[in-house]
Amino acid sequence: MFPWNKNFETGIEIVDKQHKKLISLLNKLAETLVQDNHLESNRVFDELTDYANNHFETEEAIWIEYFEQDSWLSSHHSAHISFLPKVIELREQGTNQSNYEIIENILEFLIQWLAFHIIDTDRRMALVTQNMQHKEKSLEEAKCISEIEMNRSAKLLTNTILTMYAQLSSRSLDLLREKRQHQDTEQELNKTNLQLRKINAKLKNLSITDQLTGLFNRRHFISVFNRELKRAYREKNCLSLIMLDIDLFKKINDDYGHSEGDRVLAQVSKKLKSFCQRPTDYVFRLGGEEFSILAANLDQQGTIEFAEIIRKGIEQLNISNKSNDIIEALTVSIGTITKIPDNTDTIDKYMSIADMRLYKAKTLGRNRVISSD
Ligand code: GH3
Ligand code: MG
Ligand code: MG
Repeated sequence: MFPWNKNFETGIEIVDKQHKKLISLLNKLAETLVQDNHLESNRVFDELTDYANNHFETEEAIWIEYFEQDSWLSSHHSAHISFLPKVIELREQGTNQSNYEIIENILEFLIQWLAFHIIDTDRRMALVTQNMQHKEKSLEEAKCISEIEMNRSAKLLTNTILTMYAQLSSRSLDLLREKRQHQDTEQELNKTNLQLRKINAKLKNLSITDQLTGLFNRRHFISVFNRELKRAYREKNCLSLIMLDIDLFKKINDDYGHSEGDRVLAQVSKKLKSFCQRPTDYVFRLGGEEFSILAANLDQQGTIEFAEIIRKGIEQLNISNKSNDIIEALTVSIGTITKIPDNTDTIDKYMSIADMRLYKAKTLGRNRVISSD
């Protein structure tokens, strides 16, 4: 942020060392402020002000030997005294300003104060002490010499400052560039995140989908059933389970081949899906040629009618099944259960009742719906 420059040196070792430390603390403060690290920036701030106070004492102890009652000493002292209150004021103002304004104001003040104090006043006074000490000049003579020297070196200082500003500007440009890169990276990250979310959604979908038919699978059946059972219990609504098994499906495989069997499963699934358009209807392939439908808010009669529509719909697909003696078309047997669940109801209980009725449908001659015992 604020580079050290050789022209800041006063030639008094201890003073230069302390100035360097002040500048390094200033840079550290800038860093913590930009990083938005409040705790650390407060700590560095305290360190900087403490260090500045100590440094002022060191400096004044040196000047007093040479300047005694001189006005340069008192004005230098006033400059030192004004430092801390100004810093505190800036810090307190911070509460009603945006973070960036605080950073800008504080750093601007510190940079200006330190730079001009070091470049101008301290160097000027150091020159006086050197002329008095090494060239045995009187205070007045030494002050005159230092004025001339300072005027002579004014150009040098201007160049110094210009160089520093050039450095600062190029740093600012670097920062802007970095900011730009961050924005680009952020955009890339957002894109990647979106892709990841899409992939995740796809994976989740895959994990709940039956590959052959595209219907929800058994795993999803269990989780949806759990959820719907709890909901129906809570809301005291009917929950219906419709279990469905293709009749004599083995014969399809035997008579027409396994791939044809697969095609039939897909065709039946598509038809089942077309019947389940309400948001409260879910259709699943439980495995093999067994399917189930979960439907909320359908009463006993409604469920029977729904199951009957499904049975007929499959029959009307008119898929050839020559081993089905009666109509030579593919049919399904269905068992259903409808009830408002109580706290003893479980998935297993629902399934075993529906299964039992499905079995009854088979034994009674298939291609029928059984909805009661
Ligand atoms: P039922 O009327 O008593 O239900 O007779 P079924 O022939 O339909 O019943 P069974 O359980 O004896 O036979 C089911 C057949 O389904 C046996 C199996 O080879 C076939 N199957 C199971 N999964 C698939 C599959 O993914 N693709 C094909 N093509 N056939 C399958
Ligand atoms: Mg079966
Ligand atoms: Mg079957």
